[in-house]
Amino acid sequence: MSAYNPWEMACQQLDTVARRIGLDPNIHAKLRNCKRALIVSVPIQMDDGQVRVFEGYRVQHNLERGPAKGGIRYHPDVTLDEVKALAMWMTWKCAVVGLPYGGAKGGVVCDPNRMSLAEIERLTRRYTSEISIIIGPEKDIPAPDVNTNPQVMSWIMDTYSMNVGYSAPGVVTGKPIDIGGSEGRLTATGRGAMIVIREALQHLNMRPDQCTVAVQGFGNVGGATAQFLHELGCRVVGVSDAFGGVFNPKGLDIPALARHCRTSERHAVAGFDGGDVVEGGAKATEELFKLEVDILAPCALENQITKDNARAIRAKIVAEGANGPTTPEADEILCRKGVFMLPDILANAGGVTVSYFEWVQDIQAHFWQLEDINKELARIMTKGFHDVLEIAEREKCDMRMAAYILAVSRVATAVRLRGIYP
Ligand code: NAD
Repeated sequence: MSAYNPWEMACQQLDTVARRIGLDPNIHAKLRNCKRALIVSVPIQMDDGQVRVFEGYRVQHNLERGPAKGGIRYHPDVTLDEVKALAMWMTWKCAVVGLPYGGAKGGVVCDPNRMSLAEIERLTRRYTSEISIIIGPEKDIPAPDVNTNPQVMSWIMDTYSMNVGYSAPGVVTGKPIDIGGSEGRLTATGRGAMIVIREALQHLNMRPDQCTVAVQGFGNVGGATAQFLHELGCRVVGVSDAFGGVFNPKGLDIPALARHCRTSERHAVAGFDGGDVVEGGAKATEELFKLEVDILAPCALENQITKDNARAIRAKIVAEGANGPTTPEADEILCRKGVFMLPDILANAGGVTVSYFEWVQDIQAHFWQLEDINKELARIMTKGFHDVLEIAEREKCDMRMAAYILAVSRVATAVRLRGIYP
């Protein structure tokens, strides 16, 4: 795989849209930089008594439209540039679907698969303490991302609350329901992806029950995306993760695969007996991307669809559940092939949308029913899709460019209205 620096990629995407819309160079310069980037060292006593120091980051890209919002990632490959890129993409994502937030992201360089639960808890609490100078319900609200989950969010909420002296559920979203989490948040990103895919199918005159699907990544986003597309009537014929993949041209039994993952070691898809297994993440991804499917949903990490493998992709629709899975060069190749692209800043905005609902519920201490959450999520995602489609048709451009035109224009308007302080 060709390695692309995600921050360079994010800036390149901004530059391209800035040229296209004739963005004021002063606003462009401001948006090309992150407002704040905090680097923290996180010393943890490991279970064997030894102290290890991990490096962590919290980056706020832009706060013009509201407080910062974005997930926290635990992964050995986390870098400051990656977190900066993810923070910038959060700014655009919130703007595309009209949420009153700016963009942020956090990360710790660690491998949680090689740590005990107690070590992950200590890491989370110390990291939260270190970044608590810039987070808060009115300042910056973290959420789950790769390798973090509702339990990690609970520790973040508790640590922050202990430091300020009162319970502050609004400091983080993606919490368990018992401590101020929202109905529907766990599966919101996948549900949102399904909704925009459903709209795209309708637009392209394709029937869900005649469509085949391949999903890369079977975690929070990939698992729920596969499940909802399965429920929509699509045939999910391939799924891969970091350790391998499973393939079945007749369609995988997704609920059974999810049960297998919950109980298997490493929560991996390999070992599932409802399809042909390919061992090894890279090998399985290579096979998956070559499948002749209608919909390909990369839901793992950035930098997966590159100039080296994009030509082999045969899907009609690519729906980016992950953030930044397609490099700009690969994007051009897919565009030329006529692939209908559902870009990350639209396709995976369902998660931050229900995070927004969770934050609103926490602030008001008034909680909504699941059906109201899902209805409002569907309204926002459907509107987001059609707003972007309208621009794509009017400007005669692809969906990614259209989503960027919408997002960057909205943020630029906020920058212009607020002016430069002092
Ligand atoms: P997760 O940790 O729950 O799952 C990640 C999945 O990707 C796992 O199945 C893992 O095995 C797989 N994976 C990791 N590396 C891989 C590789 N090299 N090849 C193939 N598979 C690999 O994470 P998640 O929360 O589902 O996040 C996945 C992506 O979606 C990330 O890009 C994240 O930023 C983005 N995202 C997440 C949310 C959310 O609400 N969790 C919201 C929007 C976007």
